[in-house]
Amino acid sequence: MTKYVFVTGGVVSGLGKGITASSLALLLKSRGYKVFMQKFDPYINVDPGTMSPFQHGEVFVTADGTETDLDLGHYERFIDEELNYTSNITTGKIYSAVIEKERRGDYLGATVQIVPHITNEIKNKVYEAGMTSKADIVITEIGGTIGDIESGAFIEALRQIALEKGKENTFFVHTTLVPFIYGSDELKTKPTQHSVIELRGLGIQPDMIVTRSPIALDDHLKNKIALYCSIPKENIIDSVDVKNIYQIPINYYNQKADEIILKQFKLENKKANLKEWQKLIKTTDSLDKEIEIALVGKYTELHDAYLSVAEALRHAGYKYHTKVNINWVDSEKLESDVDLNKIFKNTKGIIIPGGFGERGIYGMIKAITYARENNVPFLGICLGMQLAVIEFARNVCHIKEANSREFDNMCQEPVIDLMAEQKNIINMGGTLRLGNYNCHIKKGTLAYNDYKCENIKERHRHRYEFNNNYKDILEKNGLIFSGINKESNLVEIIELNKHKHFIACQFHPEFKSRPTKCHPLFDSFISSSIK
Ligand code: GLN
Repeated sequence: MTKYVFVTGGVVSGLGKGITASSLALLLKSRGYKVFMQKFDPYINVDPGTMSPFQHGEVFVTADGTETDLDLGHYERFIDEELNYTSNITTGKIYSAVIEKERRGDYLGATVQIVPHITNEIKNKVYEAGMTSKADIVITEIGGTIGDIESGAFIEALRQIALEKGKENTFFVHTTLVPFIYGSDELKTKPTQHSVIELRGLGIQPDMIVTRSPIALDDHLKNKIALYCSIPKENIIDSVDVKNIYQIPINYYNQKADEIILKQFKLENKKANLKEWQKLIKTTDSLDKEIEIALVGKYTELHDAYLSVAEALRHAGYKYHTKVNINWVDSEKLESDVDLNKIFKNTKGIIIPGGFGERGIYGMIKAITYARENNVPFLGICLGMQLAVIEFARNVCHIKEANSREFDNMCQEPVIDLMAEQKNIINMGGTLRLGNYNCHIKKGTLAYNDYKCENIKERHRHRYEFNNNYKDILEKNGLIFSGINKESNLVEIIELNKHKHFIACQFHPEFKSRPTKCHPLFDSFISSSIK
């Protein structure tokens, strides 16, 4: 029978609940248990796919093509398991399902209400994650902060699950803030106490409290929280600020956080195998080289908009004992008369990640010209590949009007165009080309040298595609089409060979990078940039 761990947050948002959930999952997995993860997002959007990256940060895409919260990226990076449609549930998804059932007549005769209809739907989503994954333990993180109006139904559903399954099968972790007050120079536990009162008011008694604070809590403070919040002192886990998030599981392990959970679940306390993770920490703590990579995009003010890309760059850096410093370049700023030599003075490689809409693309194209002409290693991702094609068509093939249909609907030379099957789509949500697709790699190319195999699968999230009508002319001018999706004859990877390192892909390799196993495209990009 699957056991359930729930991670809630108190006092403020942005405490690192996702990292806490991921760290506990990693530790439980390291002890030989099959772990699956899930996140509840109480907003009304069906998924984050329609939100601006400025609102929500990056949209993480799972292999099955679900557009999800960025915390799922942390989950996959920590536990190295593929998540799916059961892993990210929003209020929008729950209400859509209930309303569809109501229309179908599934509740005929009943008044449809938040309790029990909405809460039942939520409970089913928790159990579905357990059943479909066949996991020993499912860890569910609840977005938002305890006391939010939006999350009320989710918390009520969890209360009912605790009742149905009992203490041996459910475990509640509450993450809170313990602020440091300058002047009196002390940590304060009152916000934690109040947040636990709030949680208890909703019928949930936490089994563990994870305290986020700049310094560790002393015994006196832990005793205080233990007394006021009715939990054993050992079940208060310090989560002090760290420079490197990958250190956090080790910090929790040292405080036996996973053992406490296993004890309540009456599961055997098998020996943890954290060798790989410990090796990772050793590496990240001893990086002895540095390199600057420019990330050119239009959402650079909010680094979370490029979270997986930034992580993937860092992971590749670890392999070469190199700290990757990201030079966040706002592409719009490149559009005026600026000196690119100055902006890229210390830059050893340029990356252009995904994006939507016309704003800032001319700056990105300028950066691509700079990389191409100055032999600076370049990696283009999704929009980055589409712009690399436009740049090449305009500046090398002299197709002056080359553009993407996305930016100019009346465009005369649509080197990037809408796919035939996208033309009649009206809904914007969930209708991109999403998730895993096959890519066949041509031997003797940079891409083949990276992947070292002919058939790969990568995750997608885009509406526009390379227009095959331009393949011949671009090829004649030196562009290499090194990756193709054979089923639909779609271009997946392009590259140049008379260049130190110039490659771009239509998919998002960043989603598959892991701290202990960097992605081949990021690997070769970083290694070329270092050289
Ligand atoms: N806007 C482009 C498209 O929809 C690229 C999307 C992306 O970079 N994820 O095809």
